[in-house]
Amino acid sequence: MGRRKLRQRQAEEIVKKRQSEHFSLQTLRGMRDIYAHEAEEWVKVRRAVDEMAERFSFNYLETPILENLRLYLRNNKESFSVVNKEMYTFETRGGDEVALRPEITPSIVRAYLEDGMQSWRHPVKLYTFGSIFRYERPQEGRYRQAHQIDFEMIGVESSIAEAQLIQTAFAILRKLGLEDVIVEINSLGCRDCQREYQKQLKRYFSRVKPKLCEDCKRRMQKNPMRVFDCKEEKCQQELAEAPLIMDNLCKACNKHFKEVKEYLDSLAIPYRINVKLVRGLDYYTHTVFEIWKEGDEVSRQNALGGGGRYDHLVEEFGGKFTPAVGFAFGMDRLVAEMMKKKKKRGESPFVFLAQLGDKSRHQALKLFENLWEAGFPVRESFTKTSLRTQLKIAKQEKIRWVLVLGYKETIDESIIIRDQKLGLQQIVSQKELVDFLKKQRKIEEKETKELEKNRQ
Ligand code: AMP
Repeated sequence: MGRRKLRQRQAEEIVKKRQSEHFSLQTLRGMRDIYAHEAEEWVKVRRAVDEMAERFSFNYLETPILENLRLYLRNNKESFSVVNKEMYTFETRGGDEVALRPEITPSIVRAYLEDGMQSWRHPVKLYTFGSIFRYERPQEGRYRQAHQIDFEMIGVESSIAEAQLIQTAFAILRKLGLEDVIVEINSLGCRDCQREYQKQLKRYFSRVKPKLCEDCKRRMQKNPMRVFDCKEEKCQQELAEAPLIMDNLCKACNKHFKEVKEYLDSLAIPYRINVKLVRGLDYYTHTVFEIWKEGDEVSRQNALGGGGRYDHLVEEFGGKFTPAVGFAFGMDRLVAEMMKKKKKRGESPFVFLAQLGDKSRHQALKLFENLWEAGFPVRESFTKTSLRTQLKIAKQEKIRWVLVLGYKETIDESIIIRDQKLGLQQIVSQKELVDFLKKQRKIEEKETKELEKNRQ
């Protein structure tokens, strides 16, 4: 082979190698792009959250995703949170130790102190959306970059705050059509109750220690209550007889917890007491709670959200004693539930609006708007001129009703309605279109309900 040819081949190989390297660029494990089929649900969730945040007077704020590592460390070494092992940390070029936030509450408490919110009218009610990062083993519904919706009420001691947070969470779920959900609640008592209780727990553990896993042994030293979080069946068996915090609450803590339950009763919110619910964060006192899709709480996989009271965190960050309570939904999990529901319903946009010719395209633009205003989700592909292509798109999107606006229809203000399911076609006047579609929607809703009934 001549030198020129050899060089050319080498150059080609380099390009090929670069291309293959280029194509192997992928998102990191446990991280993903959110687009296409899921996108609509993400927007719906954000809208529902914004609407309910306004209804319940929560103020929007955003905090950086990168924070000083110390924000997550107690006494500069131990972590506030069970996620300490899972943190993404690194040293910046300037030598600062930083962390991608593993949760949002510490950032909000920092902002509360740093941005002078102590002088606001209390309780300070805040909410935000954002990513959290935890280097854990990815599995269904568990990501290394997860997305949370976070609500916090800072500067409130009364038990009504817990009820209001849970009420807000339920209002969001209702808005999203996720109603088969339940709250699990428990009380971890105040710091005094916890101190006394931990002594008892340690005594109990000293008897069963050899039979517990290494993780539990470590937790026993740092925060014995967290042992209840262990997923090992062997450990759970050993813990079956362990003393419970619920049986060791002082009078004031009992009263606080009783009030929370009474408020939930008044709101008719379904709840269950889980005496072993401790949650993974050290700073919780009094009420902790989790929201589960009914049935999922048995497997303890994929809670939709969780929260609790953290009366001492502001103090630990250098502020004065400021009781507070917070809650976070897993946005990925809410969206996943909505996707499941959507799949079950076989839902797709209701109508597709096709057009043929310049004149009808003008009319179609306005008709598109009118249909949305009348409450009908419409899809279109106005940039396409061929009717065949438009019908193909409608088919791909599984849309039953296709409206066709041709030259003749534009002139006499009528429209062709094609029923893709039955292969039928008819012409109605544009004035009657909305009534026609309303009637069809009612028929379809009735059919879906009957189908669901038969399935059960
Ligand atoms: P936490 O901050 O641990 O109290 O979690 C609150 C909620 O965020 C959970 O109930 C989940 O819905 C969600 N969440 C937490 N970690 C993850 C994760 N790794 N992947 C997906 N969702 C998560």
